[in-house]
Parts: sequence; C-alpha cells; structure tokens
Amino acid sequence: MSTKYVYTFGNGQAEGRADMKNLLGGKGANLAEMNLIGLPVPAGFTITTEVCTIYNQQGKEAVVKLIESDVKAGIAHMEKIMNAKFGSKGEAFPLMVSVRSGARVSMPGMMDTVLNLGLNDDAVKLLAEKSGNPRFAWDSYRRFIQMYGDVVMGVSAAKGEHNPFEVEIDKLKAIKNITNDTDFTIEDLQILVGNFKQVVKDKTGRDFPTCPWEQLWGAICAVFDSWMTERAVLYRQLNQIPEEWGTAVNVQSMVYGNMGNNSATGVAFSRDAATGEDIFNGEYLINAQGEDVVAGIRTPQEITIEGSRRWAKLQSISEEERKTKYPSLEEAMPGAYAELNSVQEKLENHFHDMQDMEFTIQDGKLWMLQTRNGKRTGAAMVKMAVDMLKQGMIDEKTALLRLEPAKLDELLHPVFDKVAQSKAKVLTKGLPASPGAACGRVVFFADEAEEWKNKGEKVILVRLETSPEDLRGMHVSEGILTARGGMTSHAAVVARGMGKCCVSGAGDINVDYHKRQFTVKGTMIKEGDWISLNGSTGEVYLGKVATVAASLDEDFKAIMDLAEKYTRMYVRTNADTPNDAKAARNFGAKGVGLCRTEHMFFEGDRIDAMREMILSDTEEGRRTALAKILPMQRGDFEGILEAMDGLGVTIRLLDPPLHEFTPNEPSSQQEMATKLNISVEEVKQKVDALHEFNPMLGHRGCRLGITYPEITEMQARAIIEAACNLKMKGLNPKPEIMVPLVGEVKELKMQVDIIRKTAELVFSEKGVRVEFMVGTMIEIPRAAITADEIAEVAEFFSFGTNDLTQMTFGYSRDDVGKFLPTYLKKGILKADPFAVLDQVGVGRMVKMGAQLGRKTNPNIKLGICGEHGGEPSSVIFCDAVGMNYISCSPFRVPIARVAAAQAAIMHTEK
Ligand code: ADP
Ligand code: MG
Ligand code: MG
Repeated sequence: MSTKYVYTFGNGQAEGRADMKNLLGGKGANLAEMNLIGLPVPAGFTITTEVCTIYNQQGKEAVVKLIESDVKAGIAHMEKIMNAKFGSKGEAFPLMVSVRSGARVSMPGMMDTVLNLGLNDDAVKLLAEKSGNPRFAWDSYRRFIQMYGDVVMGVSAAKGEHNPFEVEIDKLKAIKNITNDTDFTIEDLQILVGNFKQVVKDKTGRDFPTCPWEQLWGAICAVFDSWMTERAVLYRQLNQIPEEWGTAVNVQSMVYGNMGNNSATGVAFSRDAATGEDIFNGEYLINAQGEDVVAGIRTPQEITIEGSRRWAKLQSISEEERKTKYPSLEEAMPGAYAELNSVQEKLENHFHDMQDMEFTIQDGKLWMLQTRNGKRTGAAMVKMAVDMLKQGMIDEKTALLRLEPAKLDELLHPVFDKVAQSKAKVLTKGLPASPGAACGRVVFFADEAEEWKNKGEKVILVRLETSPEDLRGMHVSEGILTARGGMTSHAAVVARGMGKCCVSGAGDINVDYHKRQFTVKGTMIKEGDWISLNGSTGEVYLGKVATVAASLDEDFKAIMDLAEKYTRMYVRTNADTPNDAKAARNFGAKGVGLCRTEHMFFEGDRIDAMREMILSDTEEGRRTALAKILPMQRGDFEGILEAMDGLGVTIRLLDPPLHEFTPNEPSSQQEMATKLNISVEEVKQKVDALHEFNPMLGHRGCRLGITYPEITEMQARAIIEAACNLKMKGLNPKPEIMVPLVGEVKELKMQVDIIRKTAELVFSEKGVRVEFMVGTMIEIPRAAITADEIAEVAEFFSFGTNDLTQMTFGYSRDDVGKFLPTYLKKGILKADPFAVLDQVGVGRMVKMGAQLGRKTNPNIKLGICGEHGGEPSSVIFCDAVGMNYISCSPFRVPIARVAAAQAAIMHTEK
C-alpha cells in the first residue's frame, strides 16, 4: 500500500482524527476531529508532516511530483463542498484558501498564515460581483498581496525601518485624512493593491504571481521552509522539540469575517487561562479578518456581556459608551454567540480540557477554524485540574498526568503584581536561575548585605559571581544577581536551594566593586539603588516593582493529596538548616535526602575554628580546633533531626576541598595570624600550600576523612550525640550518615569503622542507643561500576548526580558555561546535563549502580540527591530505575511529588 500524504476534511467527514497529531500536526488533527463531531468547519486538506521531512531531504520538485495529484484532488474536494472554483475565470464563485502551518505542538517560531490565496485581477472582480460586496473583495485582495508578499516572497521591513506595506497604508491614510483601515473606500483599496504589487516588484524584482496554482505551491513550500528558519530552530532548541517532527500544511477554504458588519473574527477560551475559573471568555472584532484581533490594530471587544462589563470597568468606560462603541458578541450577534457558546461547551466536553478556539462569523454564520488545549498559568493549571475532577470531566490519574509539574513553582514564590510589572523599566536580562520576584537595594558584598539587613533594609546582592563565602549574605538578601555563571553556577544552585530569587549570568552588566556600582547599557546603578528581579524570566527591572504573596489554596492541597495516593517513590529534601527542613516538610517532604555539613562551617565564628583546624600541622592541633566545632555541629544536627522528627535525615560528612575555607583576603589572613599567634607570612604559606590545580578532583570528600580521621570522628560524634539527646527528650531521630566521594570500597570501610566505633562510644557514654544507618554517595563513575562491592558495606546509596555528571562527562561544573551554549547550538547536547539528567550516559551509570547494588544487597535503599531530583524528566527516570526516594531543594518538593506520581501512573499502566 502506498503512503497517504494528504488527508481531507469537510462537510462532517474527515480522513484524519484528533489522535493523529504526529502525522497531521495539532491544527490539522483537530480540524478533522471538529468535522467528525459535527461542528461547522470550512472544508480543506492537510499535507502530512512526513512530506515536510521529504521536502527537507529532497526539495521542492520531488515533493510536487509526489503529491501533485493529491493536492489537486484535495482542491477538487473543497470546490465540490464549497460550491466554488479555484482559479476560475468563469461563472462560479471563486474559491479562496488559507495556507496554515501546524506542527505537533504549537510553535510561535513558525510561519504566519497566508489568507485569501487564489485571488488575482480576474478573481477579485468575480468575487466582487458574486458577493455583491466589492469593498470586501478588494479588502481581501490587498490583504492577500500583503501577506503573501511578506510570508512567501520575503518582503519585510529592513532593520530599523517600517514594513513597506504598512508604509503604503499610512501614506494613503495621510492623503485621504483617515485613521482606520475600515474607512478606506473601494477606490482606496484598489490603489493599495496597485501600490502593493509595485512594492513586491521593487523589493524582489519579480511580479506578483497571478496563477493560483503557482501561489499555492509557493505557500506550501514556504511553510516547509519555515521549519528550518533560524527562529524556528532556536525555538525547538529551547523547548526540546526534535527536528524530525516536521510541520504539516493545512489548506482550507476561506470564510470571511470581513464581509461587513454582520461578519466578525475572534478567539475564545472555554475557561479563564489566567485564573482557571470556569468562565467562557474571549475577544472579537467586527468586519475583520485573521489576526486583526491579536495584531492590536483596533481595540478588540469582549465576547460575553460579563467580560465586556469587567473590561469597561478597568478602562473606566461608562456602560452607555461600552454598549454603543464596544458591545460584546453576546449583544451584537446574539444568534452567533449562542452557537459559539454551545460549541465551546461541546469542545470542552469532547476533549476534556480547556479549549483555546479561533472562529469567524461570515454574514451571521459561525465557522470554527481551530481548537486546541489552551495554555495556562500554574495557578490556572491546578484549579482547572481540580475543578474538572470535581465536575466528573476527568479521573484522578488524568488530573495528575495533565499537570506540568515545573509550573507548580509559580505558586510557591511571591509574584510581581501584573500591572506593576508591565509598567516597569527592564534594565537587562539574565538567566532565570531561581524563580520568584524580588526587590531590594543593591549591595555588592556579602557582609554588607548582612549589615544592611540588620538595619532593616531589603537588599539584592549583586556579584560577578558568588562563592561559599557569600552564603550568609545570600541568605539575607531578597534576591541575587550575578554577571557570570549559568544555571548550575554556585549562585543558581544555592539560591534554588534557599528558594530565593536569582538571576545569573546577566552578561550585560559591568560590576565595579571598587566604585560600588554597576552599569548596564548606559544606565548606572549605585549601591543603595532599588532594583527588582524576576527569577522566572531573568528580567531585571529598575526600581521597586510591587509583589504579591503566593497563597497555597485548597486546590493545591487536593493535588498534593492525589500525588500522595499514586506515587511509588517518596520525596525528601536537600536542607542544611532546620528552617529549610521545616519549609520542605510543609510541602510534604518525607525526610532530608542531603544535609550538607560544610555550610555549617561558615556560620558565626565557626569559620575561625575551621580555619584553625585547617592551618594546624598536627593531629593534636586539629583535635583542639575540632573540639570547638563539635558542640556547634551537634546543635545544628539536633535542630534538623528535630524538624524532621520520625523521618530519615541523611547527613553528608565534610565534602569540599579545604581551600574553600581558607582566608584569602589579606585582612582575614592578618586576623587569623593574630588569632593563632603566628606570622601573616606563615598563614599565607599554608594557604598557598592548600592550593590545588583541580580542586574538584583533589583533596576532598572521604579523602579528607581518610587523611584526617579525626574530622570523621568529630562529625560522627556530633551526629550521634545529637540523636541521643533527642531520644532522651522522647523524640524519634533517624540519622543516616553518608560518606561522600567514595570510589573504592576500602575507603568506605575505613570510614564506616570510624563511624561505628564512635557511635558505640557515644552510646555507652550516654546510656542510650539510637538506630542509624551508614551509606555512601554514588558520584564517581568507579563507584557505579563497582557498586556490587560497595553495597556489601553500604546500607544505602544516594546517587549524587551533580558530581556523577561532572565526572562521567569530564565537564567541570564551574566552567561548563564556556562551551555549553555552543554544544547546545550545534546540537551535540540536547539540554544542559547538569539540569536535565543525561539518561543515555550518566543514566546508564545510575542504572548500573542500582542493579549491581541490589545484586549483593537486595535491601539497599536507593535515592538521588543531585539537582536532578526536582527535574520532572529525571524523576520519571528514577521511578523506572526503581529508586525508593528522590531528594530535591525545598521549593521543588511539590514539583517532585507530582512528577513522581505521574511516573508511577505511567509506569504501572504500561
Ligand atoms: P496561528 O497558528 O498563528 O494561529 P492560523 O493558521 O491559526 O495561525 O491562522 C491565523 C488566523 O487566520 C486564524 O485565527 C483565522 O482567524 C485566520 N484564518 C486561517 N484560516 C482561515 C480560513 N480558512 N478562513 C478564514 N480565516 C482563516
Ligand atoms: Mg499566528
Ligand atoms: Mg491559530
């Protein structure tokens, strides 16, 4: 059987269906479906996405040869249904068509639609005569030349100039002294047609094509060409849409919204896309065509009376003026409105989802031109899912599967007031590193952020980049702005962990620490000036933009309960402080999957004790310093174990290279020298000695505990003592001690011995015992490869996918920004592997680690604690591998919970 390349629809019949989106594109599949359910849709046909692929490989000629007869048959099909003739010079009504692109998912980077195709100097006269409406005929003709000239022939505005067609329109308006397109007379429109043809000739050196068939093939090929344009390629890259998908082409009989005052065109939504409320709404324009409604040429009017009244109120327009100048469709064309209202209900019930529809009313008769599941905000997404579940329109699994987990994020952070934001001046744009809305006064140094905060100021910390030394300053800031660094830079990762707004890598800003100011595109911002950050878009605004708090309502709770019901994995959080742990527990976290102890060494005067330890040459000296740290760490652990009482808390032993803790500034070196009673020279020498060429591959992780066992001993003691203290208070602490960066089982064995010995000592000192576990991170490829050996010693594995990605690829996490953009652009990588788990490579390591681990230790507990734990596609992977839990930063817990439930539903249904 030969392949079918063209699918027709019209008159209540269709060769395609809604579930054929891969082949027919979203628009084509739904045009077919609307026909099948008896809605009024102008007849037409869809050329499949497969033809697009053939076009890209073999070119125009091959495609014309392949589908010419099908296209002819398709046009004949339309002629019959519409009782019109394509390219006719005779007596029948001329058939005009629209040519529309349509990929599987809607793509704003794609080709614009061409309307009124088929018109030429003969057809326009015939159209005028047969319709009895010459104004409409000539209006359609001038629109056609303008659209075809622009979209197919490439006549567009040069940089900095106006669109040449618009220039002609404006010239004529000036001559005729009119302001609206609708005021053009027939003669004016005829003049425009002539001028437009001349514009095409001038700009392209070619005559405007008069043969309808030539016009048609030109438009079809333009749609295919648009698939490979730069903006389409870029859009696909950003949204991870594969090139192989291709676009379909829809050729459809025209219906006319520009036939006079009993005609109109518009867009409508079956529910409110911003709030989710079950309110039919939309906009329309009388005597207009195509995208006039969204183009902003005239003020569109509301569809319902209710919406119209609300709009008028916002615009301070009186009810009298509204009714006469801007009536709703409900008032202006009650018949067509009633039909549209019943269509929207029918479509929503049919697709079981909110519909975004396009329609045209020709001389009082309604025609549907498009329907699709509408885009919506995070809040609307949640509300609609819960409402539709209650209304019995969808079942629980569908309600869950339909959510885009990442969008839940919008609900958790304070948000900018919409109106205030639209009025704000955008200074520059960086990466949307950590969502939220923040405004504060600019400071450049972490310690000053604290000072300002203590004085009651709100601050935004602006840095070239951040380092662990800035942690506390970041913590007290409303938001963080950096000039360098990507989505996995220190600033980005830490900010996400804190649930704090962050814009990173804003390359346009020039930070001058010395003068305490930054400049961006000629604007200078000084210390103390107000700026605002939009962590969801990466935009930086001048001044204070008002925010409103996010509120978690009943609907959100209902969704979380549903997730709980279907999930197989549970969700833990990455938290270093009791506050973070509590916040995460509120979002439904079932324990801590990663508590990083190094952050605790920066608090207050601990850094001094830490530095003292690092700088001392003897075990003796180190033990003295560690003894000072012990009570502080114990206190921290008590806080976190208490916040997560009854739930597991995985505490990772000291991990980063020591030089991150050393004093690097001359002033702090002087301070250390005084405190330790040694010379500055000596301090400097020791700091230099700690320098490493590849710190990420250097003296860090369990290597520290192997060379300095007293560190492990102190940390184990602090953890076990904390647990014992809580147990004596009647609580139920569940510590899980995690050894980082193990690559060889002997490393783990040595650390486990120290930990268990220390624990026994503490138990006998305290006279109580607590249950605890000891396990390791799997983050070095060798650990994944030898996981069977390691599992004989470890009680749990936590896949540290940040380091595992770094070491499997051999990409330094901190330098990846230098080449990653190129890799993405050239298609070597589909996504940043530090944000989206590379399932092919790193994922295989994880899978191998899990399987080998279970082979020698069937009860081993498996989890993941990298940044990937909160990324939906990575969560699905973790469920497939059979992990027991995932762990992510507090504000990602709801996202991970929904993603985990979705994964469970998908995998159990298979
Ligand atoms: P997009 O994908 O950008 O929405 P469409 O192909 O939906 O592009 O076309 C945009 C608009 O053009 C439609 O909303 C509709 O108003 C108008 N249009 C498209 N095809 C026809 C048609 N056959 N008759 C009348 N108007 C049409
Ligand atoms: Mg469009
Ligand atoms: Mg459309």
